[in-house]
Amino acid sequence: MSEETIFSKIIRQEIPTPLLYQDELVSAFRDIAPRVSTHILIVPNKLIATVNDVVDADELTMGRMITVARKLAKEEGIDENGYRLIINCNEDGGQEVFHIHMHLLGGQRLGPMLSI
Ligand code: AMP
Repeated sequence: MSEETIFSKIIRQEIPTPLLYQDELVSAFRDIAPRVSTHILIVPNKLIATVNDVVDADELTMGRMITVARKLAKEEGIDENGYRLIINCNEDGGQEVFHIHMHLLGGQRLGPMLSI
């Protein structure tokens, strides 16, 4: 059983981070330390620590993360110019918070996909 992170408290609104979106499967809120002008995190409501922990029954949730990214990108006005979706996994992937989250990044021209 994975330990809860601060994201579970945000999802339950036990800390008052404004939610940009929430339904029965996923939630979205702005990153606390935005790297670019639009930096949103889309997270499953259920605690799934990493992509390694995704099971077949999570397919609807993982797909919902993409459709919510599409919706938020449009709302943010970055859909036509483009944006990047990133999910980091474990140490080599640079994951810091062990509750899966998809970064929605845009609002400006992004640099190379990887800096190693
Ligand atoms: P990752 O490196 O993929 O695990 O990204 C974790 C992200 O969570 C970072 O971009 C952090 O800035 C962000 N983050 C950490 N704590 C919070 C918080 N309380 N509210 C919003 N974003 C957060």
